Amino acid sequence: MHKVFDNILQTIGDTPLVRLNRVVAGMPCPVYAKIEYGNPGNSIKDRMALKMLEVAEQEGKIKPGGTIIEGTSGNTGMGLAIAAIIKGYKCIFTTTDKQSKEKIDILKAMGAEVIVCPTNVEPEDPRSYYSVSKRLAKEVPNSWYVNQYDNLANRLAHYEQTGPEIWNQTDGKVTHVVVASGTGGTITGIGQYLKEQNPNVKMWAIDTYGSLLKKWFDTGEIDMKEVHPYISEGFGEDFVPENYDRNVIDHFEKVTDKDGAVMARRIAKEEGIFVGYSAGSVIAGLLQLKAQLSKDDLVVVIFHDHGSRYVGKIYNDEWMLERGFLDVETVKDLIGGLG
Ligand code: PMP
Repeated sequence: MHKVFDNILQTIGDTPLVRLNRVVAGMPCPVYAKIEYGNPGNSIKDRMALKMLEVAEQEGKIKPGGTIIEGTSGNTGMGLAIAAIIKGYKCIFTTTDKQSKEKIDILKAMGAEVIVCPTNVEPEDPRSYYSVSKRLAKEVPNSWYVNQYDNLANRLAHYEQTGPEIWNQTDGKVTHVVVASGTGGTITGIGQYLKEQNPNVKMWAIDTYGSLLKKWFDTGEIDMKEVHPYISEGFGEDFVPENYDRNVIDHFEKVTDKDGAVMARRIAKEEGIFVGYSAGSVIAGLLQLKAQLSKDDLVVVIFHDHGSRYVGKIYNDEWMLERGFLDVETVKDLIGGLG
């Protein structure tokens, strides 16, 4: 037998780095994408989910047979659910009624209990998904409340794994890393590691309109006037999680909901890489910053997750049309062309 694994957790990480060709045409330097949907839960979040659980075990925060509790409907939930199955824990996730039934069913398929809470209540309201998960963490015996935002094992996963992988895969030639940023774990962990190897490596974070992260980075201010609902998924925040270390980040760039969605579709069609929303936003943001790059640079971007999570959204023409992300003529041409 060649390389075989004892269980699915051992397949987390060591993801491929793939050169982008068409969507970055006209860039002065090569751009490589770290394809994180190759992880067993189809996203980069498997890395931090497992790391947070391992650290909690070491610190005695969870004992055998215990229950993992987190407010999540997304990639972190999937990563935690997989780790829980292999290690013998239960999972209870709280989420909001805004989330698609599919996402909830996926987590249930992986053995998690999912509690659906109302969206339109303040975080402090006892019915909010945030309050419910905190209450459960107090009530359920031998339970551990993960809190991916402030749990520093999140960024540690990227300091220990993702950062070194990028350094080794590029033979230390990487000059820029571009990352869509939410909890801050990915950009901070990678940045901490890479800047220890070469302090000149630039870390560029991608933010979205409706998030306060860029304003906070640029001014130090927590400006709630920046915050409004947005369509981009998986990144941007309405507060600043503890995982951020602004010393290892060089720039925040905002990308519109439309530009991210349109670019994700282009990555799928032109590169054959079926990515999630934030991958589109990362490339759209990188193109906005093109003038700052030169021929000797080597850019690495993170593609956080897989397009299958977004088939009813960015990969659905009606959904794109309703939001003005696609014009009717393009779709008509397409239908005409097919007819
Ligand atoms: N993109 C996607 C699809 C994600 O799920 C996440 C995690 N919320 C991010 C980007 C941002 O990563 P991080 O939370 O590590 O900043």
